Amino acid sequence: MQFRDLQRQYQALKPQIDAAVAGVLSASRFIAGPEVKELEKALAEYVGAKHCVTCANGTDAISIALRAWGIGKGDAVFVPDFTFFSTGECPADEGAVPIFVDVDQYTYNMDPVKLEQAVKKVIGEGKYRARAVIAVDLFGLPADYEAIKAVCEKYGLLLLEDAAQGFGGSINGKPACSFGDIATTSFFPAKPLGCFGDGGAIFTDNDEWADLIRSICVHGKDTGNPNDPNAKYNNIRIGKNSRLDTLQAAILLPKLKAFADYELEKINTAASWYTAGLKDVGITVPVVRDGYYSSWAQYTIQLPAQIDRNRFQSEMKSKGIPTMVYYAKPMHLQIAFEGTDSASADCPVTTDLCRTVLSLPLDPYKTKEEINYIVAAIKETLILLSEN
Ligand SMILES: *Cc1c(COP(=O)(O)O)cnc(C)c1O
Repeated sequence: MQFRDLQRQYQALKPQIDAAVAGVLSASRFIAGPEVKELEKALAEYVGAKHCVTCANGTDAISIALRAWGIGKGDAVFVPDFTFFSTGECPADEGAVPIFVDVDQYTYNMDPVKLEQAVKKVIGEGKYRARAVIAVDLFGLPADYEAIKAVCEKYGLLLLEDAAQGFGGSINGKPACSFGDIATTSFFPAKPLGCFGDGGAIFTDNDEWADLIRSICVHGKDTGNPNDPNAKYNNIRIGKNSRLDTLQAAILLPKLKAFADYELEKINTAASWYTAGLKDVGITVPVVRDGYYSSWAQYTIQLPAQIDRNRFQSEMKSKGIPTMVYYAKPMHLQIAFEGTDSASADCPVTTDLCRTVLSLPLDPYKTKEEINYIVAAIKETLILLSEN
């Protein structure tokens, strides 16, 4: 069994994907081909954002958004302590200081009460300017935007939605990637909507930021005058080379259609089989609060504290079931932040989660038999490891 079976998905969509790839090869417009614009339009529509700018990956997407806002030296950016490394890496790479904030034990997302405490502390100390919050839609579930936005408005902070794992989620029908002042996502193959390599996208309703983002993605070129044939040779700021290539855009078009037509629904059904099967077995299952909808980038349980996770994983492996630990280390304890102000954070929930979490195999093509087999294996393993 695969943890996330990309091969099954390819087989299901093979005719459309192969045709899309062949089309790009014959046209040979490998960079900025028409599929890129077509995809940006389709993504903006799906998300309900005015602008979508695709880029090379989800990490660049975050850095580019921060750069468009001019965030850098002397600035504090508030980031959940429980997330993939990029969320803290990008503000640091721009010269700012990520301040890590604890998360909710059941949704795994940033705790808005602790966010406000952290913001107050930074403002009180006066060493850094509090500038922005990066909220992460972890494991596919949108963060608590109502409460987080209230904190941002109260303290004049910009809100960046890191929806690298969140594409397809929603709150009361409003899609992920529409909650931040800017939102970003990733098309890394194992994300909810993945391509066949690296890719990313940035969403915003703000015209000025959209122009800036387009410029930063292509070496800071002048996007001011589309009628001036020489404008593209004018580099008016320091940018990056961060583009989604035409092949990836062409692959994403049929994949977005399948995602919207049935994959998102199917993965929710598979997740509900886990939730029903794992009720009352002594583990904590992920909580999706009323009105929230997850795209299930991961299905992450919490093992009882007395269970040895390594042994649990090897028992599961011996039954042919791969499991993963997302995430094993709080961000503020990553060696990269050692000796910086990012290293001092008070995040007991994250610390506990890093000891107990375990992500289970999941994708839209998992069958009920497979999920039942995993559930049975979990129950057996819990009993086995509780006995000795
Ligand atoms: C995967 C991920 C990223 C980075 O995306 P890449 O496309 O791999 O660069 C950023 N943030 C989170 C939360 C992620 O899971």
